[in-house]
Amino acid sequence: MKDRLSYRLKNISYSQTIAMSSKARAMKKKGYDIINLSLGEPDFLPPDFVLHAAKQAMDDGYHYYTPVSGYLDLRETICEKFSRDNRLKYTPSQIVVSTGAKQSIINVLLSLLNKDDEVIIPAPYWVSYYQMVKFCEAYPVIIPTHMKNDFKITPEQLESCITERTKLFIFSTPCNPTGSVYSYEELKNLSKIFKKHPQIMILSDEIYEHIYYGKSHPISIGIFHEIYPQVITLNGISKAFSMTGWRIGYIGAPEWIAQSCDKIQGQMTSCANSIAQRAAIAALKSHPKSIGYMIKEFKKRRNLVLDLIQEIHGIQWNKPHGSFYIFPNISSFFGKEIHGVIIQNANQFAEFLLEKIYVATVSGSAFGDHECLRISYASSEATIIEAFMRIKNLLN
Ligand code: PMP
Ligand code: GLU
Repeated sequence: MKDRLSYRLKNISYSQTIAMSSKARAMKKKGYDIINLSLGEPDFLPPDFVLHAAKQAMDDGYHYYTPVSGYLDLRETICEKFSRDNRLKYTPSQIVVSTGAKQSIINVLLSLLNKDDEVIIPAPYWVSYYQMVKFCEAYPVIIPTHMKNDFKITPEQLESCITERTKLFIFSTPCNPTGSVYSYEELKNLSKIFKKHPQIMILSDEIYEHIYYGKSHPISIGIFHEIYPQVITLNGISKAFSMTGWRIGYIGAPEWIAQSCDKIQGQMTSCANSIAQRAAIAALKSHPKSIGYMIKEFKKRRNLVLDLIQEIHGIQWNKPHGSFYIFPNISSFFGKEIHGVIIQNANQFAEFLLEKIYVATVSGSAFGDHECLRISYASSEATIIEAFMRIKNLLN
């Protein structure tokens, strides 16, 4: 039967983040005392005013297909949000609202990529970029980065990867999985390279923009006006408003890209969910201060994780400045025997933690780094403390 599947499908693998959390959920159902630090999913309720807007939308009769790219007043709200938070000017015709940022990404890739086109992706990267590029029969060109450089690429590295086949560059800042945040200067220097190559589009994934721990708000690469026509700014409400299941993502992009995403979406899904769109208006109209309590909590957890991780021998880590992950290097355990098991690689390490101490994490291999492990701290302090105690007791 499997032979009948399309070669496009055979070309990709299952999402490792989702696979790991499904496995953890299944074990929990069987009665194991699982701590799930695998999925990047905030544990808060969405804000009350957003829930209220959704209930109101049902009462007000928003039960029908919406315009393909989203309600006009939502797209206007997104333009105001881009201007308020990111200093980016977009008009509603440049906005497409989709069923999660995931759909926004695949819309953009399907719009741009032909077979064998090249897409530059700095590693560690978010798990689905790589697979989606392969799904489009294009070729991911990976720029490796290192912990000592805070997992960031240099303009020289970027330039050396560009060929006449390069169509697109994809990155996230704040980054999933490393927590790195590119500074103004770093983005400006990258923008100078892109300016020399106006045929290259840039997909800037800013879904963690509000979850940052430094003094100033993360910068959008689209603010450098020389490259503004090359930039597609991606965002969504999953992380900032703790609304992963509502499935609302959006892009601000040059009109020709927005129109093409609208064309694809019109055939594939018609539009994003109408009630979730109304709720998204309430979410995005609110000032970021309204979610300050969640960000404060994430910062406390990040600091807690930085304290706890020091107690585990044999691992190295960088200080995350945003998102809610830490990405330690665990390669010093490779080839060593721990509790009767010889750990060969990061996949096995993650499995080992799940099977021995019931702590679910994700292997760095999912993100293009075979020496690291991603630990999500989007869980309560008590859960984090318990997880790190188990890890410490197992490894030290
Ligand atoms: N980009 C990054 C970096 C992510 O971590 C996620 C996680 N879900 C997404 C995009 C997709 O988000 P959404 O829930 O809006 O599809
Ligand atoms: N983005 C989250 C993560 O990286 C959710 C899982 C997913 O969408 O793959 O864990």
